[in-house]
Amino acid sequence: MFPASALLSWYDRHRRKLPWRAEPGGIADPYRVWLSEIMLQQTTVTAVIPYYENFVSRFPTVEALAAADLNDVLSQWAGLGYYARARNLHACAKAVAAMGGFPGTVEGLRSLPGIGPYTAAAVAAIGFGVPAVPVDGNVERVTSRLFAILDVLPGARKAIGAAASLLGEDPDARARPSDFAQALFDLGASVCSSGQPACGVCPWMEPCLGRRAGIAAELPRKAAKKARPLRHGVSFWVTDGAGNVLLRRRPASGLLGGMVELPGTPWRDAEWAFEEAAEFAPVAANWRPMGQVRHGFTHFELTIELFAAEVAEIGGEGFSHAVSGLGDLALPSVMRKCVAVAGG
Ligand code: SF4
Repeated sequence: MFPASALLSWYDRHRRKLPWRAEPGGIADPYRVWLSEIMLQQTTVTAVIPYYENFVSRFPTVEALAAADLNDVLSQWAGLGYYARARNLHACAKAVAAMGGFPGTVEGLRSLPGIGPYTAAAVAAIGFGVPAVPVDGNVERVTSRLFAILDVLPGARKAIGAAASLLGEDPDARARPSDFAQALFDLGASVCSSGQPACGVCPWMEPCLGRRAGIAAELPRKAAKKARPLRHGVSFWVTDGAGNVLLRRRPASGLLGGMVELPGTPWRDAEWAFEEAAEFAPVAANWRPMGQVRHGFTHFELTIELFAAEVAEIGGEGFSHAVSGLGDLALPSVMRKCVAVAGG
């Protein structure tokens, strides 16, 4: 119904050149595929490329990554967000190095830390040539349109997954599983993009049921998003006369686990009165307001009120670090915003 040969010949002409990809017909390095797939979760290709390139030059093999200190890995990751990925990445590298390499099956890959069904299928298909169809957001969109699947996401995932597997059963897809998976990604990222798809240049224009029914742009249907709750925090920028600032490391598990931050209050639903927040200040000082930072996490929005003070000598819980060297630290994006507001 949807000939894989049409998609593959489109891919041979229009494929995106990405640093982790092999040439058409080739099989990419599983380490690079896995690394790129973890980085691409919740993050755009454009944002990922420089991080990916730094990462592979610093950790060229899975063994090098496994042997690295977690804090180095977190520093390289800082700014990409969703830091549990970096911790899982490191744990996974250790497991893979101990096994002597990545397992070459979907099941084997799924047993590794931080690898879910999508990533397992992507690494198996792209890095090992296993005939599996990884279903990411792009493939979900393409498939729901091709088959005119009207069910609402996330409930529609089962039907979409089954339909995507059908696409992969075409003998031409099974002959080039790595290219077929990437061709689906590319079709979704360029031609069958969210909003209005460019059906006129699509290799599957003729048989596409969504296009025929005139409903392609409305698919996939999604449940209305709930508004994210707003949380509040107060952070403290304590410097000394020698250009150092007081920092601390967050607990290893939980949101932003293991990342470096400015000392401050917990984040909560209610706004903080300053007198209340001052109890969490690392030192008694003459605090002056520096402004507000706003940051979106997956499940909530956060506002941080920032206060600054200069002290003769930095003390309190945590460690001091040169303001000029903050770029080398594992600072999450929300803290980078705080540093920018504080003038670091
Ligand atoms: Fe998407 Fe249009 Fe192609 Fe259908 S014909 S897969 S809607 S671009």
